Amino acid sequence: MINIEALQSTFRGRLIQPDNYDYDEVRQVWNGYIDKHPALIAQCSGTADVIDAVKFARKNDIEVSVRGGGHNVAGSALCDDGMVIDLSQMRGIHVDPSQKLARVQGGATWGDLDRETQIFGLAAPGGVVFTTGVAGLTLGGGLGWLRKKHGLSCDNLHSIEMVTADGKLLTASQTENQDLFWALRGGGGNFGIVTSFVFHLHNVGPTVMMCAIMYPIEIAENVLSTWRDFMISSPDEISSQALFWAVPDIDAFPEEARGKHVIVISAMYAGDPDEGEKAFQELREIDTPVLDLSGKIPYTTANSMFDPFFPKHERYYYFKSQDLASLNKETRSALIEGAKNRPVPSMLLAIWHYGREMNRIASKDTAFGSRDTTFLLSVDSIWDDPADSEKVISWSRAFLDKMKRFSRDGMYVNFSGFGEEGDDLVQKAYGDNYNRLAKIKGKYDPDNFFHLNQNIKPLSS
Ligand code: FAD
Repeated sequence: MINIEALQSTFRGRLIQPDNYDYDEVRQVWNGYIDKHPALIAQCSGTADVIDAVKFARKNDIEVSVRGGGHNVAGSALCDDGMVIDLSQMRGIHVDPSQKLARVQGGATWGDLDRETQIFGLAAPGGVVFTTGVAGLTLGGGLGWLRKKHGLSCDNLHSIEMVTADGKLLTASQTENQDLFWALRGGGGNFGIVTSFVFHLHNVGPTVMMCAIMYPIEIAENVLSTWRDFMISSPDEISSQALFWAVPDIDAFPEEARGKHVIVISAMYAGDPDEGEKAFQELREIDTPVLDLSGKIPYTTANSMFDPFFPKHERYYYFKSQDLASLNKETRSALIEGAKNRPVPSMLLAIWHYGREMNRIASKDTAFGSRDTTFLLSVDSIWDDPADSEKVISWSRAFLDKMKRFSRDGMYVNFSGFGEEGDDLVQKAYGDNYNRLAKIKGKYDPDNFFHLNQNIKPLSS
């Protein structure tokens, strides 16, 4: 038991220990597979609490993890026996519509931010699920529906306020602590605890055109090759994923479609919805679909339509990715074979198309590792029966191993499984940027106090 007396005297948020009535609820993260038991959860109410929590942990030599939205599938937001510095109650947002800027606290979710920005017809590029934390997603890069037009979430940062490993508050931007600003745009939670982000906003919505069309898996080769050619020449407004999936057996879907194995083309047009409708026609006429759910919808709906499939702590998740060298015929065949053989139908194989604004920024200009990739494969394993855990996880790993011959070094740190390859995985994810990151880590966190993450080992310069 940690003696919290010294921290209690100033702390404004809640300090939760194993004997608290809601300890078991508070220690849950998104992934139902994760079952960690921290000795203390420090639910911060503001920057002062974060500073005190860091100083307290340092003084008492307590291991620390940092929690934003709690979505990391490896459960890196939690630790066993140590202290969770939990920002999940710090969800304040202030939008300045005239400057097109939003200040966002370190525990806000994308749903929070979309709510506050969309009222002004504005948005910051985020993820495709409302409940994901702004912090973890942005610090690792951030892939969403606006990536081709406006880049990654981290590409839209104006500045960041962060508490360092020695409890100091710093600002990082293009003019202040530039080395840190470079590292925070992709380098994850390695450098400190972000108490707030300032994002540049763009005019988006409120209505957007979505493409959500499902074709039978039997014609996946034709669908995937058409999608690849379409995406390579498509306008910047279109960001898209192709997904192998099985239509769930639930009332929300027509009876005749339920249980069918499909390839889904999901895409959003970030511009005039009528133009989007015209642009998506080709994708909607590839063949006879199992289901076509395409249409004009609020931008907030586009960003939350996957939410029902990712409930908090009720399902089991293992997401892992790899950059593909191309999406040529051999790669497509291997993907389709994998999709047909996946051990549970609820597993997704997702192919994300990168490009345009993401590629216009040079790889060396931010820490994010794989800008020149065109297609990312993400094995999004989702299952409901804990008895399937070993089968699903080992299948996912073996499938990604098989796909290595169609891949290039590199992956997305926010889809990195349970981090099982350790240093090797992180070095490959950052490629040529790794050494520079390690030196910046050495400058801001020489003792590797923040190590429960996709860890970059500090290097002294
Ligand atoms: P947490 O689990 O709270 O934190 C993860 C790590 O981030 C922590 O260990 C810490 O190192 C760091 N961190 C968190 N908060 C802070 C902070 N305030 N300061 C410093 N470090 C911090 N990714 C995409 O790019 N696009 C998507 O559309 C997308 N969709 C997803 C949907 C689901 C259902 C899930 C489970 C994940 C998705 N992801 C997506 C992956 C997501 O980006 C990562 O899981 C990310 O880590 C989530 O951030 P979080 O704050 O919710 O996570």
